[in-house]
Amino acid sequence: SQLPLKVPVQLPNGISYEQPTGLFINGDFVPSRQHKTFEVLNPSSEEEITHIYEAREDDVDIAVAAAKKAFDAGWSTTEPEERVRCLLKLAELIEEHAETLASIESLDNGKSLFCSRGDVALVSKYLRSCAGWADKIFGKVIDTGADHFSYTKREPLGVCGQIIPWNFPLLMWSWKVGPALATGNTVVLKPAEATPLSALYACQLVQQAGIPKGVVNIIPGFGKIVGERICTHPDVKKVAFTGSTATGRHIMKTCADSIKKVTLELGGKSPNIVFGDADLDKAVKNIAFGIFYNSGEVCCAGSRIYVQDTVYEEVLEKFKQYAESLKVGNPFEENVFQGAQTSQMQIDKILSYVDVGTSEGARVVSGGKRIGNKGYFVTPTIFADVTEDMKIVKEEIFGPVVTVSKFTTVDEVVAKANDSEYGLAAGIHTGDVNKAIDVSNRVKAGTVWINTYNNFHQNVPFGGFGQSGIGREMGAEALDNYTQTKAVRMSIEHSNY
Ligand code: NAD
Repeated sequence: SQLPLKVPVQLPNGISYEQPTGLFINGDFVPSRQHKTFEVLNPSSEEEITHIYEAREDDVDIAVAAAKKAFDAGWSTTEPEERVRCLLKLAELIEEHAETLASIESLDNGKSLFCSRGDVALVSKYLRSCAGWADKIFGKVIDTGADHFSYTKREPLGVCGQIIPWNFPLLMWSWKVGPALATGNTVVLKPAEATPLSALYACQLVQQAGIPKGVVNIIPGFGKIVGERICTHPDVKKVAFTGSTATGRHIMKTCADSIKKVTLELGGKSPNIVFGDADLDKAVKNIAFGIFYNSGEVCCAGSRIYVQDTVYEEVLEKFKQYAESLKVGNPFEENVFQGAQTSQMQIDKILSYVDVGTSEGARVVSGGKRIGNKGYFVTPTIFADVTEDMKIVKEEIFGPVVTVSKFTTVDEVVAKANDSEYGLAAGIHTGDVNKAIDVSNRVKAGTVWINTYNNFHQNVPFGGFGQSGIGREMGAEALDNYTQTKAVRMSIEHSNY
């Protein structure tokens, strides 16, 4: 029997809604060509939420053709004010549907409502910011003397392939779709197979916002099939990816064959430094937020904490108490901070790193255990007295597991902070403004947070140094990833006219 294109879903907080199950291609929800489906699980209960249609290579080809047609048929040359209108309307609709979207996110990803409400708020702010840019994509007039007129234009690229992960499903959707549409591109986006629901729900809002058919195409499916075809398709001009460094490296190689533009937002192992002169209570809240927010499934999580020796034991004790006060459990309960990990694979990976840490000789100060035997819940976990060569200090765990170690001098902690192949973010906690700026200048990271952490703003660019990626999202920089410069140079005759 055929899967209906919408199924009723009852959320644990009483909201009921219709979940689209089809691929969103050319403005409509459609079954996949081969009518294959896959199961979407609730990570808090390990029960099935629904099945949805699974895209394959032939669906990618159809979606890319729709996106190419929409690009050529006018989206790329439309009046910028029309793109402003569409994106503003979409932002407004996201706001209207915020509570449903946040609830879908908590159901599908397992994150607490506290976290998913934060995500959805940033989605609408970011789309509004993109709307603000859409009629301000400026070229330059370049003075090259009286004999020529020289200017540049910033033109869209064409069909953009976008591949996103499961830790911030709707937020990553907006970070990809927003700047692409603002600059006149069309998109074919693959959500993560673990968390496709909010992306499809949001496509209904794309329809309602009056965004022309084919401009946005969303095709759930698996990375090795759909993701791979997006990267090899000749009509896809750019690939934007967020996910693991290993997959990012593979995508970059695949895209090299057709010289696609590539932007990558990858993993991290970000240092979070507490100096002895910091406001320690505030610093402890920030380091906890830095690692336990979103169940630790954050690419820029502050997963390596360095505490100055003068306050090491005091910070550790306060941190332990604070971590143990955080409520973990049912993401729909109002005071829950940390919900479920997103998948069996993730919780297995996290628990195996807890074993690795213990066998490497690190001291478990707090946590380190699975909670219950239904749902992927794990305690916030603090390892202390670690050394720089330990695997738990070197490798991305992508869960609520953090290492803490001691330092004495600024030079020592800067060297330790920079001893990583990654460079996504860094945190500095100090009461000394001079030290804050000096250390922020010396750490190799795309984002430095001072006396705060995991603190995003729609106009502040985000992205990595080193193996954490290429390109920036949000802010003015995001638009550079979606435009190419055309230089026009015209000869001027002075007398023969
Ligand atoms: P992944 O990088 O493999 O998956 C991310 C996205 O890429 C998904 O949509 C997936 O379907 C797609 N993908 C996978 N293989 C592909 C391929 N060959 N071609 C094109 N697309 C492909 O990550 P994962 O396997 O879900 O998680 C593994 C680890 O990655 C996690 O434990 C974590 O350490 C890291 N991760 C990082 C982020 C981040 O935001 N930086 C997000 C998710 C996962």
